[in-house]
Amino acid sequence: MRPFFPWRLFWKFFFKQFVVIVGLCSALLGFVFYYFAIDWSAADLRLPSLVFLVLTILVSGYVAYSLAAPLRTVIVQALRIADKKRTDGLIDHEEVLHEEEGEYYEIERALTTIKRKLRKRRDQLAHEREESKALMLALEDAVVSVGTDGRLKFFTAQFAAQFMHKEQFSSTRSGAIGSGAATVLLADVFRSPELLSLIFDCMNTGQSLKKRIYLKTLGEAADRYFSVTVSPLKEQRSFAIYGALALFHDITDLKRAEQIRIEFVENASHELRTPLTSIKGFVETMKEDVAAQNWDQIPSFLNTVSKSVNRLTELVNDMLSLSSLETNSPIRKESIDLFRLTHDVVDSLSALAKEKDIILQVQVDNPELCADEKKIEQVLQNLIGNSIKYIAQSGKIEIHWQDTGDGIDLSVNDNGPGIGPEHLERLFERFYRVDKGRSREEGGTGLGLAIVKHIVQSHGGQVKVVSVLGRGACFICNFPKQL
Ligand code: ADP
Repeated sequence: MRPFFPWRLFWKFFFKQFVVIVGLCSALLGFVFYYFAIDWSAADLRLPSLVFLVLTILVSGYVAYSLAAPLRTVIVQALRIADKKRTDGLIDHEEVLHEEEGEYYEIERALTTIKRKLRKRRDQLAHEREESKALMLALEDAVVSVGTDGRLKFFTAQFAAQFMHKEQFSSTRSGAIGSGAATVLLADVFRSPELLSLIFDCMNTGQSLKKRIYLKTLGEAADRYFSVTVSPLKEQRSFAIYGALALFHDITDLKRAEQIRIEFVENASHELRTPLTSIKGFVETMKEDVAAQNWDQIPSFLNTVSKSVNRLTELVNDMLSLSSLETNSPIRKESIDLFRLTHDVVDSLSALAKEKDIILQVQVDNPELCADEKKIEQVLQNLIGNSIKYIAQSGKIEIHWQDTGDGIDLSVNDNGPGIGPEHLERLFERFYRVDKGRSREEGGTGLGLAIVKHIVQSHGGQVKVVSVLGRGACFICNFPKQL
């Protein structure tokens, strides 16, 4: 590699000196000739002129070199700081690493310090950039920054995926984390006046703002609920606001869970209050009857109180089952003899079935299932129990275990009253009942199917219902072969 040398400077120094020396010497010689009245035409000046010229060239060359050589290091350093690529062809790296102190010592030292600081800052910036990139990718929330003109300055991949149409996304210059998004207006991405005013309010007031807003997201019919936090972006020195950064935290599921919890508490209180009111009323009446020595109605009242207590017990038991299922406690895996288990459950319910003249038919094509026996027993109890409950009089219930290839299916099929199509979607919700009165009359808690759904799902399976009103209902639980 050709080592770098500031030849241009060297030639500049050289010619200037040459001209100055030649000029000065010629003027001096002219003056001497003139002063001493020497006839210069008589003298032979060829040899002295030649010697003078050679000497001038040598002196000029030497002086120019001694001035340009130390500048070489300074220029090399400056070039390296200014533009590394430009110096690559010119500088021998060995030479750069060997930084000796030259005549321009102070400048060189200053440049070296600047260079070290710049290198440190550059490394720091690269680290910061990497870290913020990793942070943005790890962040599940969508982030966008907007300029005061309402144009996007930067957005994360999550933001693009949730809110930006493909054309908007591709019209920006950069990829997943868009830092060249200046062509897209915030108002083109969001139609929500609430969100737009939140962001512009933040830019106008310079205050961080937070609000819960429903926003439309791509590919979803219903709006999602977001907690949006907007912070102003300020210039470091002048503190002038040049934009705002918004973070979108999706709280739809949280809100839904909150709603379900509220509804559950409302429903549970209502369900508990009914038998409690009945117990309270009858106990008060009995107290009065006992005081009046009136025993006639007491046995019937006690019977009603006992029924209400049983109902309360069932409700509490079902609620406890549900809550233990919802804590996602690990399920026990054991090999279950389906034939024995199904017949045990059928036997325990046969008296009830007999009362209503209901035939129970069991078919077990797949004799084994690896699952939690107690929970599968509860599924069978609830499904067969429901069929018996809702068949008014005489009917048939078929319980069938089979291997479908995809998994093991349990179907409980009855020819009872069936369920209208408008109820099917919500049937597995807690406390959802088609006919509240009938369910209560039959001692139903409204939690049986919710428990079935939770048990099947905790085994990695799915449950569905097929029913035609007036023709019966069929509940199908699909369990995976391997848990
Ligand atoms: P419940 O304790 O009221 O039976 P479930 O969660 O077990 O609560 O069932 C929810 C509702 O689904 C019941 O109230 C009933 O209206 C309906 N249902 C469940 N199983 C059947 C069935 N086999 N035939 C007709 N309706 C049913």
